Amino acid sequence: MAKPVLLIGVGVVALTIISVLLLAAQTSEVSGEVKCPFCGSKEVWTPIGTKSENFLWKCFNCGKTWSKTYSEEAYRDWLHRTPVIVRDMVLKFVAAKHPDAKQLLPPKPVWSVQQLSQDKVVYKCGGWIISVEKTEEGYKVTLDFSATRIPGYIGIPHRIVWTGIFTFDGKIVEESYGHYY
Ligand SMILES: [Zn+2]
Repeated sequence: MAKPVLLIGVGVVALTIISVLLLAAQTSEVSGEVKCPFCGSKEVWTPIGTKSENFLWKCFNCGKTWSKTYSEEAYRDWLHRTPVIVRDMVLKFVAAKHPDAKQLLPPKPVWSVQQLSQDKVVYKCGGWIISVEKTEEGYKVTLDFSATRIPGYIGIPHRIVWTGIFTFDGKIVEESYGHYY
């Protein structure tokens, strides 16, 4: 009489173990991704090339900081995303500092991507050409807008060129800005 009950009991224990293992696998996968634990933003930074690399993190979206060492794979994924983070942070910086450039930025840009070398990527959209190159000093960024690149543009030709550095510790240094008519 006790046998079926025992079998059911063993079955329940086995199912519980399996579900706990599955849950653990899911949780570790989610927490392994490099993103802000407070707001979920993926626009986060760690000081590259210092003792705090892959340990101290800062979120560009909510400004909070945390310490965590992510797995090598998760960290490599983040490193691979850095040109996109650099591009978008520089665009925010330029938009905040130069209202004349802000009004020319595409509101919902869909960037075409050209990987020119292992360290250099070029993005294009709506008359803008943005190049991000990883150098020894940091990420060298050039923003270049020309109205004449926009198909069907019939206004006055004008051009914007911004150059600067996104440092390995996550700061933006403007080197030059010009809006030429
Ligand atoms: Zn955040």
